[in-house]
Parts: sequence; structure tokens; C-alpha cells
Amino acid sequence: MPNIVVLGAGVSGLTCALQLAKQEGNVVTVVAKHMPGDYDIEYTSPWAGANVLPMALDKDSRWERRTWPVLRQLVKEVPEAGMHIQTARVLRRQKDVASGAKAALADGLFEQNPWYKEVMDNFREIPANELPPGIHSGCEFMSVCINTAIYLPWLVGQCAKHGVQFKRAVLKHVSEAADLSHTGKKADIIINASGLLACRLGGVMDQAVYPARGQIVVVRNEAKGFMPTTSGCDDGSDEIMYVMQRALGGGTVLGGTYAKNNWDPNPDPNIAVRIMKRAVEAHPELTDGKGSEALSIIRHGVGLRPCREGGVRIEKEKIDGTWVVHNYGHAGWGYQGSYGCAERVLELVDEIVKQEKRPSKL
Ligand code: FAD
Repeated sequence: MPNIVVLGAGVSGLTCALQLAKQEGNVVTVVAKHMPGDYDIEYTSPWAGANVLPMALDKDSRWERRTWPVLRQLVKEVPEAGMHIQTARVLRRQKDVASGAKAALADGLFEQNPWYKEVMDNFREIPANELPPGIHSGCEFMSVCINTAIYLPWLVGQCAKHGVQFKRAVLKHVSEAADLSHTGKKADIIINASGLLACRLGGVMDQAVYPARGQIVVVRNEAKGFMPTTSGCDDGSDEIMYVMQRALGGGTVLGGTYAKNNWDPNPDPNIAVRIMKRAVEAHPELTDGKGSEALSIIRHGVGLRPCREGGVRIEKEKIDGTWVVHNYGHAGWGYQGSYGCAERVLELVDEIVKQEKRPSKL
């Protein structure tokens, strides 16, 4: 009967805790410095849009491929989870295609003939006569937008329903988690879902982890079912354009930026003005053609995407005599890959349990 402590209550930790708790026999405690309801620069999950725009290249697509069917089922069958169906509109700008802008187009999202066309429902190439001015090509597909202020507490509720217990704690070293199970007994397995702070956590100190700063503006204006995003913008390589309306009155998120190694927690007012202008230019329906001055701002925000050189880390390792399964480094796709990653974490937990049961060879 594995006694498991999950370190981290972001989307990665909560999804793993829930999936583990659903398996008979597991005893699960979640331990975290930040929990749903908190807004802090060290806690990424509440700041996400969040929607599904597949980003991986085909070879790394397992996490997103395995997550989409679960999100699609939730959006159709569980309205209280806080997500709704929206049409994603992915647009390659003529400028980026003509200049061969590798950085802008390297993302799997902007590939011509992408792997996800077989996975995402209602995928279609946008015919030339429907493309906005300056756009070379693009596609549309059914996606979802998650209201993270509802979805994260919903995950907590589902965990509680399956017996998970929650504790606040600030850990200096990953091994401390072993002593924090609500059972009072030492944990058999720790799941390390510490996100960006994996670079500062004792026993892990992963120097490949770095932030990609994302500034957003949340507005009351409605995006009317479409989530546009473009391959680049004219405001520099750290800036991007996307729009997504959250479910259940969560407002519309206007993005954004993708500034690597930038830890600044404060919204920059000049960037905010550019974000709003870009969003309204690409999506004039937001203000019924009245320009960015007609946006009604709910708040400005900044979140730090937990990026990692070499990609996400999902692997097992024994630290100070306790098994640790790492699950961190999800960059800008933590929601859209959450169930796929949790599935792999469960496989690794299973391997550990089988290995520990095996009689040692004499
Ligand atoms: P976090 O949410 O940061 O959680 C880490 C947890 O670990 C916290 O509970 C923290 O308190 C705890 N912790 C860490 N260290 C310690 C310690 N020493 N002691 C105790 N507790 C500790 N993803 C999408 O899929 N779709 C999107 O549309 C999308 N949009 C985004 C937009 C923005 C602006 C940003 C910033 C991100 C976006 N993302 C999106 C990415 C997504 O938000 C992240 O990949 C995801 O939230 C990472 O979750 P996590 O659980 O790994 O980390």
C-alpha cells in the first residue's frame, strides 16, 4: 500500500494526486507552499490562460495526445470543472513565413500539416479567402479554455473526494516530504511537482530550469468563441499575441510575452498597452470595432512558465533512501499535457512498487 507525498499543488501536482488517489491502495498527501486561491509569482498555475494549443513536435507529443481526450470528456460532461469549448485559430503571418522566422515557426503549433490535425476535433485549414490581411495560412480546430480559478479548486475537491489530504509547508530539501504524510508514517514515494522552484529545491537544484515570463491582461470584453494566435508580432521576439475567453465568467485573457530568464514579477505598463493593441487589432470584435481604449480591464498579471533545457523531466530517482518521481518543467503546456504526464508518473510509481516487492537476489 504505497504511502505517497506529492510536493506541489499546481496543475501538475494536483493532477498526479488525483490520478494516484483513484487507484485503489494508494494513500496520498499533497504538500505545498502555495495552494489554489493563492496568486504568487512562485506559483505558475493560476496565471495560465489556459487553453489547448498543441506545441510539441510529433516525437514529443505523447503528453498532449494523451491529455486531450480527458479534457474533451471534462468539457462535455463536467461543467463544474470550469472549462468550455472554444475554436482555436492558429495563424502564420506572411512576414514570418517570408523571412523564414525560425524562432516564430519552430513551435509544433505552427507546423504545416501538424500531427495534431488527427487528434483535435474539427480540424480544418482556413481557405485563402477567409484569411485576414497579412496572414499567409492558418488552421482552426476545436479546443477548450479553462478558467484556472475554477479548475484548480475543482481538482482539489476531486482529490479530497478520493481521500487526499492537504498540508501547507515550505521545504528546503525534497527529502523532507517523506516525513509529511498525513498518516504520520514515512512516505514510500515522493512526487516532485515543484515547477519552476525545482531549480532551488535541495536534492534537485536543477540548473536546466529557467522561467519564461508571461505578462497578461484580463478583460471583461468577450472574445465570442474564437481564440486567435499568430506566429509572431511586430513588437519584438519576447512578445506574442493570443486571446482566450475563460469559461464561467472568468474574463478574457489577452497575451502576452515569452521572455526567457526574466524573473520580473511586476506588470510592465508599456507592454500592457502593446498587448491590448495587438489583441484588438487581431480580434476587433473584442470591442465591437471601438479600439483598445474600449477594453474593460479586470487586472494585469505576470506568471513565470517553468521551462527546462532538454524538456520536461519525468523520471524516478532514489534520494536519501526514498523514491522520488519527478514531474516538472512543463513550460507553457502544463494544462494541455497534465493528464499525459500524470499517466507516465503512475507508470513509474507502478514500476517502483513492483521493484520493491520483488525478492532481492541472494
Ligand atoms: P506550479 O503551478 O508553479 O506549482 C508548483 C507547486 O510546487 C506550488 O504549489 C508550489 O508552492 C510548490 N512548491 C515548489 N517548491 C516548493 C517548496 N520548496 N516547498 C513547498 N512547496 C513548493 N499551459 C497550458 O497548458 N495552456 C495555456 O494556455 C497556458 N498558458 C499560460 C500562460 C501564462 C501567462 C503562463 C505563465 C503559463 C501558461 N501555461 C499554460 C503554462 C502552465 O501554467 C504551467 O506549465 C503549469 O502551470 C505548471 O504547473 P506546475 O504544477 O508544474 O507548477
